[in-house]
Amino acid sequence: MSLTLLRDPSALEGYARDVSGLRSVPEAVARPESHEETVELMRQAASERRCVTAAGAQTSTTGASVAALDWLLSTRAMARILDIDPARRIARVEPGVLIGDLQRACAPHGLFFAPDPTSEEECTVGGAIACNASGPRTLRYGPTRAHVQSVRAVLADGTDFTAARPGVEKNTVGFHLAHDPVDWFVGSEGTLGIVTEAELRLLPVPVQVLGLGVPFPDAERALAFIVAARETAGVAPRCLEYFDGESFAIARAAMGDAAWAPNAGAMVYLEEAGDREPPLDAWLALGEQFGARDVDVRVFDGEHALREARRLRHALPAAMHERTAPYLPQGGRRMSTDWAVPYRLAAAALAQAATINAEHGLSPVTYGHLGNGHPHQNFVARDPAEVTRVEQAIAETLRAVLAMGGTVAAEHGIGKVKAKWLGLQAGSRQLAVMRALKQAFDPEGRLAPGNIL
Ligand SMILES: Cc1cc2nc3c(=O)[nH]c(=O)nc-3n(C[C@H](O)[C@H](O)[C@H](O)COP(=O)(O)OP(=O)(O)OC[C@H]3O[C@@H](n4cnc5c(N)ncnc54)[C@H](O)[C@@H]3O)c2cc1C
Repeated sequence: MSLTLLRDPSALEGYARDVSGLRSVPEAVARPESHEETVELMRQAASERRCVTAAGAQTSTTGASVAALDWLLSTRAMARILDIDPARRIARVEPGVLIGDLQRACAPHGLFFAPDPTSEEECTVGGAIACNASGPRTLRYGPTRAHVQSVRAVLADGTDFTAARPGVEKNTVGFHLAHDPVDWFVGSEGTLGIVTEAELRLLPVPVQVLGLGVPFPDAERALAFIVAARETAGVAPRCLEYFDGESFAIARAAMGDAAWAPNAGAMVYLEEAGDREPPLDAWLALGEQFGARDVDVRVFDGEHALREARRLRHALPAAMHERTAPYLPQGGRRMSTDWAVPYRLAAAALAQAATINAEHGLSPVTYGHLGNGHPHQNFVARDPAEVTRVEQAIAETLRAVLAMGGTVAAEHGIGKVKAKWLGLQAGSRQLAVMRALKQAFDPEGRLAPGNIL
């Protein structure tokens, strides 16, 4: 018995895009409701020699969840939280569960899932695993990779594949890259198999969390504060989020708080969490060293206030989408960088990027996870000519970033949009190893064609 495939053109159109703006209408869409139905679908695809691209909520910014060829497999009908085990601190979930829903299910157990992409209310666990998603709190807890205990997947030929983190603390069995197959799936962007189930590690909710919005006179001092915040004894941030002057203006407007430090040139949102009361005085003193005034600092204390603070950050991508919308019909699009450098070099990298952007007549809006040396520079390209100009500027910036020991993609993955930049970073042997892994899992190249390689 074969699974029903959607082929109605209007239904297919609903799966033709992700947030990158790339559009490709799949030939058919499958919505399996279980691991077993996924096996069936993949066998059918194998017998008809069809390519299959997995898609969760299609919030990818890189075209990774757009099907370049043949079929799209939506995981949205596999969205059950199968088990939460408070003793082991493990949640067993299907891939279509939204991260926000998982958080709400864990909360009554006093537990949470640490990865917190800004899109957590819209994106799926499967997508987060496949992209190794991260977020503000990654500074303290690490990206999704650190929180995946096991995966169950269906391979291109319909066979089962299960991998769990090895429990041993020592291991000398050959090459390190072959020790833990869970790591192959985290960040594989749908190219190795379809994840149908995962065990996720949970953490106890901290007793005390304090959020602070600290405005600074200019970007330089804000960025210097971020480095000091990572290196000063007595403070222990779990996130250090940077807003340039324009981003801060957007956030201020979203908060309906026009009077909040209107002359500031930048703002840093930080959180400290733990069992003891976070050291507010130490934070204020550190801010003061870099020109922040106590009267400008906003304190976000308690669950409600911290949710408000997240709105600050959420307002930014939404505003950039709004600014881009009028230009979409004429071939414009929003373009955003995802590069990162070692955190101490972030100010130097941003200065180089500013020079390059100015040479191209561009002035992006910059915000992001500077505690990890990871800004997002957002461009509104108004037409195809400007898209080309932005691409040139980004390519030049990426070369500068790589010269500083950085990466071209820190959290959104490579997908299709950034595949052209992979070769700038990965050497020929690294690429060969990736191709060998792909060959071992998907020799016919039928999974997520166009992603990464
Ligand atoms: C407003 C906004 C804010 C964002 N903020 C962040 C952020 O802070 N941090 C961050 O890391 N990302 C962020 N993103 C990017 C995106 O939300 C994340 O990459 C997210 O993890 C993608 O999840 P998804 O369910 O939308 O996956 P999709 O976009 O549907 O898919 C992404 C990739 O995962 C693969 N995939 C999906 N499900 C499976 C599966 N079950 N098995 C195998 N492969 C699968 C797809 O083939 C594709 O390659 C943001 C995006 C938006 C629009």
